[in-house]
Amino acid sequence: MALLELRDLSVSYGEVRAVEGLSLTVEPGEVVTLLGSNGAGKSTTLKAISGLVRPRAGQILFEGRSLMGCRPEEIVRRGVAHVPEGRRVFPGLTARENIMLGASNRSGLSKRQIRAEADAMFELFPDIARFGDALGWTLSGGQLQMVALARGLMAKPRLLLLDEPSLGLAPVIVQAVFRIIAEVRRRGTTVFLIEQNARMGLSVADRGYVLESGRLALSGTPEALWANDDISAAYLGGS
Ligand code: ATP
Repeated sequence: MALLELRDLSVSYGEVRAVEGLSLTVEPGEVVTLLGSNGAGKSTTLKAISGLVRPRAGQILFEGRSLMGCRPEEIVRRGVAHVPEGRRVFPGLTARENIMLGASNRSGLSKRQIRAEADAMFELFPDIARFGDALGWTLSGGQLQMVALARGLMAKPRLLLLDEPSLGLAPVIVQAVFRIIAEVRRRGTTVFLIEQNARMGLSVADRGYVLESGRLALSGTPEALWANDDISAAYLGGS
């Protein structure tokens, strides 16, 4: 059974049809990337999965059960964590405190256990050890992205939704973030990743889907997508 399945999903903002009849699957253990140009409907798709926008039609199944109509907190409790675009790190809290907040969906954990788990994140993100006590507002774009990822992982999700993790980051930082995504998958978390940077998205993905004006234009393995000249030129910056 697919971990995540979208069936004929449609989302509108008033008159604007942001997503139209989108069907896709994410299998357990996969990294799947959703590509497309600005305004293609990628963020809207993620927001629908995590309960932040209400679809007009279609079905969203997680582990075979519908997520339609569930509140965002309920969806997190079911095992889906969303790392939003723009990171949303609290400026007045330290990096460590921000990371600890990621466990707030998990009941029965003591503050001490949460602190120990946050410290264990430093293994996956050795850089965070250096800035764990720095306040959110002092962090660089790359550091904010690491904190947002670590916070998402603190929810112990079975599915991690990532919205443009490379946005606004220097190339060397992007490489570091994608190494972490590969490591997250190696440790058993399934990842659904939205990327403008198709080259990076496809470099870690098992499969990709390409959205065009809210509709599915193409899907396949990274190799198959690169090999399609039209798609490569239009969406992937290739030739
Ligand atoms: P980007 O990379 O720019 O975020 P995207 O592929 O994620 O693009 P969406 O943000 O999902 O695309 O937007 C899809 C369409 O829906 C666009 O036409 C956008 O203008 C519109 N849209 C997005 N959010 C809203 C909103 N809150 N109200 C009205 N229209 C919206």
